[in-house]
Amino acid sequence: MPRAPKATVKSAPVSAHAPVHYRVTPADVHAHHWHVVLKLTRPAATQRLQLPVWIPGSYMVREFSKHLQGLECRQAGRLCGLIQVDKATWDVQADPDQVLEISYTVYALDNSVRSAWLDSARGFFNATSLCLMAQGFEDGPQLLEVLPAPAHPSWQLATGLPAQRVDRRGFGVYRAADYDELADCPVEMGNFWSAEFSACGVVHRFVVAGALPSFDGERLLRDTQKICEAAIRFWHGAAARAADVPSASYTFLLNAVDDNYGGLEHRNSTALIAARRDLPRLGEAKTSEGYTTLLGLISHEYFHTWNVKRLRPAAFTRYDYTRENYSDLLWFFEGFTSYYDDLLLRRAALIDDAAYVRLLNKTINQVLQAPGRKVQSVAQASFDAWVKYYRQDENTPNATISYYQKGALVAMCIDLTLRREGSATLDDVMRALWKRCQGGPMQEADVLAVLQSLSGRSWAKEIKAWVHGTGELPLRPLLESQDILVYEDPAQPAQRLGLRVTETAGVLRIKTVLHGSAAQRAGLCAGDEWLGVELPSGGWRIHKLDELGAILGPARRCVALISRDKQLLRLPLALPARVTTWRLAAGSRAPTAWPA
Ligand SMILES: [Zn+2]
Repeated sequence: MPRAPKATVKSAPVSAHAPVHYRVTPADVHAHHWHVVLKLTRPAATQRLQLPVWIPGSYMVREFSKHLQGLECRQAGRLCGLIQVDKATWDVQADPDQVLEISYTVYALDNSVRSAWLDSARGFFNATSLCLMAQGFEDGPQLLEVLPAPAHPSWQLATGLPAQRVDRRGFGVYRAADYDELADCPVEMGNFWSAEFSACGVVHRFVVAGALPSFDGERLLRDTQKICEAAIRFWHGAAARAADVPSASYTFLLNAVDDNYGGLEHRNSTALIAARRDLPRLGEAKTSEGYTTLLGLISHEYFHTWNVKRLRPAAFTRYDYTRENYSDLLWFFEGFTSYYDDLLLRRAALIDDAAYVRLLNKTINQVLQAPGRKVQSVAQASFDAWVKYYRQDENTPNATISYYQKGALVAMCIDLTLRREGSATLDDVMRALWKRCQGGPMQEADVLAVLQSLSGRSWAKEIKAWVHGTGELPLRPLLESQDILVYEDPAQPAQRLGLRVTETAGVLRIKTVLHGSAAQRAGLCAGDEWLGVELPSGGWRIHKLDELGAILGPARRCVALISRDKQLLRLPLALPARVTTWRLAAGSRAPTAWPA
């Protein structure tokens, strides 16, 4: 249920005019058009304007300028000379003594957390999609004035930007210290649900757009508070106070939709998207798998407040918004954040040991079922994120490894090795890194130095093998050291054959053929439609891969009947004798300190 916001008027002293002032209007919700007027009081004689090609946190060139149109620049009402330099760069000929007014429209219909959206139900934007950078002014204050949509008088606005002069609904003028801050504070507007809670004395606001009437906001608030307190105490100790926390307030912006999932971390907020069905429901006390996943997402993005927004790759000390920004440390910043997101759910008692082990089991199987782990190290996968992880295709599992998943397992291997040796835990490593790097830029050498100082020995061998190598991680002995037992169960048909498939409307289509698999040896190909199988005793039509088990029984040879570009192919297929997947289970020894 939507709930009225607190009727407070945020205000700060109105200071002198900033040299950069954006006025953003939801101009035409049905055309999905934002209108932007950028005013520069003291432009350069040749004033360069640029729109970012990517948004920090999402490592892919997204070409936001493709949605920018109708760019015009005026001084005293007269059009200025304008030259487009490249896909996202313009030069304006201006009189430095007169105000330069730049106006344009941005089309916004990307229902993700990475760019912008506008329709009759809500508006959302990142400045990287809407706000042209004025070269020479990036390091100075940027005023963002957001106007309401006249046809939607009940809409409210939420953002992590500091308010300068806003009305009780949140519309008005916000002030960013520089373009980086502007770009790091997404804006949400609409008839959203909103409420606040305090974690270790810090005010947190949770905004949910698009929830069903049965949405249990109180529960979401309660559970999120536990996550935030666990994270704050993780970084700053059990007695953490508000002054220890790097941001003075925090805002969660969650967009609930029919089917989507994702999040993007920011310095004092996060934009999340999730399926409505995964929100907690009034009158339901149990924690569904979908809600656990949502809590994991909240935990993940919140942990990034420290790990990547402050402690960050030295390569991200200053973002270049016009091109790829390469780092080979995403295994640390995404992988270690992924390790701690679920671990903090366990520590906040939102899930039990069994649920935690199931989540870990899933991550392990995802890594063990990706042949790409033998092709790329997690350091290489980090560097290649721009063209591999973020541009996935049918060959992705064969060509790269997720620095989220394997990075999380590297974190676990370090943690469990430290615990086995009795010297420290990974928690100590994270906190020591925070101190050593003063919550700022970090390099791999810092990780090695902290590990050495806490454990009294070099970790060069482990980092070389686990982070820069493509061999298997020592998962089994380390799990067994925590009394987690590993069983190898017979694999499901997809894994046994080495396939990933889609099964929609009775069509069994091959999405990926894993390298080195039985399916690859038989000549199956991504895009093929698998129609049926032939045995000496007769042929069978199949619609789902799991039907194979019943048809084949113990038989290990058959002929796959395939349709490829309308041609029928008969491919002899030999199934391997034994393919297994891991199943983890807690042993019978007394509980260890980990993972609780
Ligand atoms: Zn992340």
